[in-house]
Amino acid sequence: MSKAIISSLYDSDVFKMACRQFDQAADAISLPEAIRDRTKYPRRCMAVTLPVRRKDGSVTVFEGYRVQHNVSTGPSKGGIRFHQDVTIGEVAALAMWMSWKCSLVGLPYGGAKGGVIVDPKQLSESELEHLSRRYMQEMVNFVGPHMDVPAPDVGTNEKIMGWMMDTYSTHVGHLSPAVVTGKPIALGGSQGRREATGAGVAYLIKKYLEDMKVPINKATVAIQGFGNVGSETAIALENFGAKIIAISDYTGGIHNAKGINIKKALAYIQYAKVLKDFDGGQPISNEDLLELKCTVLVPAALERVITDKNAAKLKCRVLAEAANGPTTNAADKILEKRDDIELIPDVLCNSGGVIVSYFEWLQNLSNFYWTRDEVLEKLYGMLDKAKDAVDAQKRKFKFSRRLAALTLGIGRVAEAKAARGLFP
Ligand code: NAD
Repeated sequence: MSKAIISSLYDSDVFKMACRQFDQAADAISLPEAIRDRTKYPRRCMAVTLPVRRKDGSVTVFEGYRVQHNVSTGPSKGGIRFHQDVTIGEVAALAMWMSWKCSLVGLPYGGAKGGVIVDPKQLSESELEHLSRRYMQEMVNFVGPHMDVPAPDVGTNEKIMGWMMDTYSTHVGHLSPAVVTGKPIALGGSQGRREATGAGVAYLIKKYLEDMKVPINKATVAIQGFGNVGSETAIALENFGAKIIAISDYTGGIHNAKGINIKKALAYIQYAKVLKDFDGGQPISNEDLLELKCTVLVPAALERVITDKNAAKLKCRVLAEAANGPTTNAADKILEKRDDIELIPDVLCNSGGVIVSYFEWLQNLSNFYWTRDEVLEKLYGMLDKAKDAVDAQKRKFKFSRRLAALTLGIGRVAEAKAARGLFP
């Protein structure tokens, strides 16, 4: 059987990590060779340069990407990241995980991801708007409500999605809210979308603690990353009665064994923009936060923070992967041997975001809007179904929970590809 002839385009640690996960899952379900490589590798990608006029009159050219990993099972779906360390390999890995996630939770979508190499904190509001609009302008023929539907990710937010939607709509000549999700409510955003990812993470944590017979009001939680996902997870877990003992952002963390007042932390970050110098506890480094003794550890920032260096030192009962790809392959091997830690893998754990993005897209296409309660009820129903399926697969084949989730997601994509034929 001939193997894929693939260039070094995506070559990076994070893409290799996603490929390794794929290979393990494909081996575990004996995925036929004939379907493997075209299920594994991204279908197509786009790289663009984005000139932006700066405040001082100069022009800076940024580089951006969109990778559509799988478009065989529906329009591709996935966020756009604005971060200085973005690479096309990272975007490809994130696109791959979107494919498995959408398939695992039963959404009629393929997987995609986008990114721009930029530190958005270094741009003025108007520079950020120009960059966002220019990115969408370059993508106009590559995305669309029935082709590829972006959403927010690290460094992007509702406002940016609103600008992108407006640019796309101006180009096609009519309002097209379904081209992106995670928009402001005034532009067709969904009730509950802003908190969806964190609310879903917290809901699954609560469910797993129930399975473990650990009362949530006795649980302590450490969260790395206090952006959209981390902060919404903290709010929801606090509402469930858990005690948040550590939070962090790129400037470092705060630890307070008595519990951090999350409302105060949110109010602080509103004006200070960063957690640095927040007086709600003692400073702690991001590395030490991961090794804190706690009931639940939630990485909610970037990839590859749980490695072979710290996996054996984690002191949590539940590792809830709110971020995409926080655990390296080597760390996974260590965690698989540790029966004291329940892992909720990223493709399941943070799927609340894309589930409510799907609801937003449905509402936009039908012009019929739902209440927040309807959104959350449907979200929890879909998470329950996905959790049950993953745990059944885990029991049936004696897989780790990550392998269970990935084999379900990958198996369904491969089945659809095989049924459609060679072309898609
Ligand atoms: P965000 O930009 O809103 O927040 C990111 C947070 O991580 C910020 O607090 C930032 O300061 C912090 N951070 C950045 N670098 C860090 C570092 N080196 N150490 C510690 N903290 C650091 O992004 P987000 O939307 O909350 O996304 C966080 C994670 O969740 C990402 O892995 C993303 O792919 C994943 N995710 C997001 C969504 C969504 O709906 N936004 C959905 C699913 C998964």
